Amino acid sequence: MAGEKALVDVNGVKYRWPQKPVAVVCIDGGDPAYLRRFLAEGSIPNIARFMTQGFSVVAEGTMPSFTCPNNMSIITGTPASRHGISGNYYLDVKTGEAIVMTGPELLRGDTILAQFANAGAKVVSITAKDKLRKQLGKNLDVSRGNVSFSSEFAGKCSIKENGIENVLEFVGMPQPGMYSMELSWFVLEAGIKLLEKNRPDLLYLSLTDYVQHKYAPEEAEAKRFYQYLDKCFGRLADLGAIVALTADHGMNDKSNAAGKPNVIWLQDILDAKFGKGDTRVICPITDAFVGHHGALGGFVRVWCTGNATPKQVMSVVKGLDGMESVLDKETACRVHDLPADREADVVVISEANVCIGGAEAEHDLKGLEGHRLRTHGGVSEAKVPFILSVPLNDEYKLKAGAATLKSYQIFDFALNGAQQ
Ligand SMILES: [Zn+2]
Repeated sequence: MAGEKALVDVNGVKYRWPQKPVAVVCIDGGDPAYLRRFLAEGSIPNIARFMTQGFSVVAEGTMPSFTCPNNMSIITGTPASRHGISGNYYLDVKTGEAIVMTGPELLRGDTILAQFANAGAKVVSITAKDKLRKQLGKNLDVSRGNVSFSSEFAGKCSIKENGIENVLEFVGMPQPGMYSMELSWFVLEAGIKLLEKNRPDLLYLSLTDYVQHKYAPEEAEAKRFYQYLDKCFGRLADLGAIVALTADHGMNDKSNAAGKPNVIWLQDILDAKFGKGDTRVICPITDAFVGHHGALGGFVRVWCTGNATPKQVMSVVKGLDGMESVLDKETACRVHDLPADREADVVVISEANVCIGGAEAEHDLKGLEGHRLRTHGGVSEAKVPFILSVPLNDEYKLKAGAATLKSYQIFDFALNGAQQ
């Protein structure tokens, strides 16, 4: 029966009905550097097997290289210019208010998950942090056996809201802490349990980057984390799923020789030059959980809210050390495929080892004490793994060879490109 179902059209891409379960995993902060190291050591044998027997490239993620824009790209199969989520915040120029972009109401277009569910597929969406859950679950009807929850609130799930209850008992793990590797492991353990018990058609499992923010690839805790992930990926494949792995963004060390954040306080610099109120710097990485990055990233937006012109702002920022690119709105939208109505007058992207903040007084860096700042947001963190557990069919071999792949093509490749 399943093979006779029609193609599912989502935002202009036609997706084939899965012949067997497809599990797409977003390894949050999964910089290719981690895989390089652990593959060389031989410590992640399942991923290694996928890469040699299936398919693997390094793909381009969505810019800015933050969590929400990339998760939305992956589940809609579109760039940020289409889905509209270009960070956690943008400035409403009419009201002067910073608008949170992590809710489903600002997401444009349909999600692959919701459209498959509408077509009758059984769909599972699990994420580590609850901030992402509602966006991932946009229009996903959980009353028909579909499931959508976060491990953050695993203990509070209800049939009405999440399509599942008693999740801690079901998974057999205690409630994981917000800043823990177990928060990600729980996502995978829950996915495995659901695959065993309910045999869903489509699973989207989105982890958290707590580990990558805290530990470099050479640190033992990073290896411990990845070895657990690797075992889970092997178990998903053993249960008969096609496993597709990608990441929302990479991660770079952005600290100086003294171990302190290598940060440019852009709002302070612009205030000193133009006066307070003339410009407004928005750090779109900001969220409620700044403990592991202090709201410092490699990409910020500057709105001109007074007399300073974009040209003047750009000329000041271009004179600073550590900037990779300083773009006006039009160029930023064209080069990075961003939604113009949510873009600033000036976009500033730092080099790999540098991060950008707003006003120093407004950043809480307490959570960073005792370890180096590792963070993301720039072009240097926009390279991500793109791995399938099974080989590609001929059509998709050609497609893969013809252009650099985007991470938002992962569902396309998993559903349409995997040899069945
Ligand atoms: Zn992330």
